[in-house]
Amino acid sequence: MIKSSLIGFSKGIEGDSVFTARNPATGENLEDSFCHASEEDVAKACNLASEASLAMAALSGSKKAGFLRDLSDRLGGIVDQLVQTMTAETGLPEPRVRGETGRTISQLKMFADLVESGNWVDARIDRTQPNREPIPKPDLRSMLRPVGPVVVFCASNFPLAFSVAGGDSASAWAAGCPVIVKAHHAHPGTALLVGNAVVDSVRSSGLPEGAFSLIFGDGRTVGQSLVNHPAIKAVGFTGSRAGGRALFDLASQRDEPIPVYAEMSSINPIFILPGLGEERMNEIATGLQGSATLGVGQFCTNPGIVFYPRGPGGESLVAGYVGKMKETVSSPMLHEGIRKAYGEGLDSLTGCEGVEVLVPASNESGEGGCHAGSCVLSTDSESFLGNERMVEEVFGPSTLLVSYENPSDLLRIADSLEGQLTASLFGEETELSQSGELLDILETKAGRLLFNQFPTGVEVCASVVHGGPYPATTDGRSTSVGTGAILRFARPVCYQGFPDELLPVELKDSNPMKISRSEA
Ligand code: NAP
Repeated sequence: MIKSSLIGFSKGIEGDSVFTARNPATGENLEDSFCHASEEDVAKACNLASEASLAMAALSGSKKAGFLRDLSDRLGGIVDQLVQTMTAETGLPEPRVRGETGRTISQLKMFADLVESGNWVDARIDRTQPNREPIPKPDLRSMLRPVGPVVVFCASNFPLAFSVAGGDSASAWAAGCPVIVKAHHAHPGTALLVGNAVVDSVRSSGLPEGAFSLIFGDGRTVGQSLVNHPAIKAVGFTGSRAGGRALFDLASQRDEPIPVYAEMSSINPIFILPGLGEERMNEIATGLQGSATLGVGQFCTNPGIVFYPRGPGGESLVAGYVGKMKETVSSPMLHEGIRKAYGEGLDSLTGCEGVEVLVPASNESGEGGCHAGSCVLSTDSESFLGNERMVEEVFGPSTLLVSYENPSDLLRIADSLEGQLTASLFGEETELSQSGELLDILETKAGRLLFNQFPTGVEVCASVVHGGPYPATTDGRSTSVGTGAILRFARPVCYQGFPDELLPVELKDSNPMKISRSEA
């Protein structure tokens, strides 16, 4: 069966150019075909979003919350269909699909609670002082308002939680922005199931038609056309550094440049401080294996590099880790492109001078050609510091273990790293208190610092930061996970000298929503 994009409440044009998803576990093409959206579809979706923009911006917090909750209920009602389609399109096991559906639902509810409370708008009030000398002070009040239509690129590695109704879309809708989603070619059926639920929610919640469209097609054609369209005011993306950077550059070169919030590449370094005994090292080896291989190493936060002290503790870490990684069975990666990139990344690392392979990734790629085995490589800090290739992300279940001699080596190592989503330290509390300089450097490199914890299993909450300096993201001032994600799709507007009755409800003197405000 041939399926088309969703352009507001209509279907996209059925053209001849179609694509089919493939089961990465078996290599079989799946039954349904999906039409590449036409330029006409793209233009119509953007125009609908533009027309919906003012109505979306005017929605009350409770109206937006109603929509987000309705959508979360609808997703809860299609879990079994999602399990069937998503396991076939991604090779991910059923518990992961159920877990990710739960996370997607709770993210939508979290944003519903946030916008209903109204507390996200950063309301600031400077009351007039007509008698101030030498000049009177005017009345100024500001708050966050939506930026306008947002394009969201679905993530291959989060077909639900960072795709059609995932964190980027939920935060943009919560801010009051229309959303156009560009589906990922690896899981179009999953995207369409969720997309149909979104359309039903938009209708039943009384949102304007242009609040949502879903576009199928190549990134380099329809994806770039979307980003180039003058109606679009911001972009959310999760994927490769090359893809995110291309979209960022494109958006910067528009007549009206727009922000691109791309979450791209991170090796999530782990620093093991020198004071830990062999027992703790064994515990770390166990935890590391779980974290590095979770989701076949395809989470943004899987740790890819570990710096450990030379000596008996370090040796037992390496021995324990190698033993555990040898036992890890190969599993299908999400799509052929990711499997190929994993192989190329490992080839690049093994080609570096001073790198030794301790556990080779099995060459057996499975029937679907997408299976990948775990890999452990090792080197020393001098070789690491001498070769820039070793700091690049290898997306998959591999770890580079890097030994160091002196704690002072860690400062040079940390300094050489690119921007990261996370950086983790393992050690005694007393050692942490003596690692101020290292922490100071890591704070400039990563969005989230962890102590004696592994970076996978990102908590979705108000204070989490899932972001970091380039190339972890294109804008290190933002987070794509948690309620802070809404700030990407809003901008401050100041109302000067306005009569109270014409101010937005959040800024009125009586504060009817009882939101927290900064008042002077
Ligand atoms: P991707 O190749 O960057 O694709 C993500 C989305 O961006 C797709 O919809 C793709 O379109 C589009 N796209 C890619 N390049 C583009 C360009 N130049 N112009 C316009 N659109 C473009 O990422 P992926 O498929 O998810 O995985 C590939 C690699 O990305 C992985 O091997 C890994 O290295 C990295 N990755 C990293 C993370 C992370 O969180 N760190 C997460 C996922 C992936 P198409 O549908 O046409 O492909």
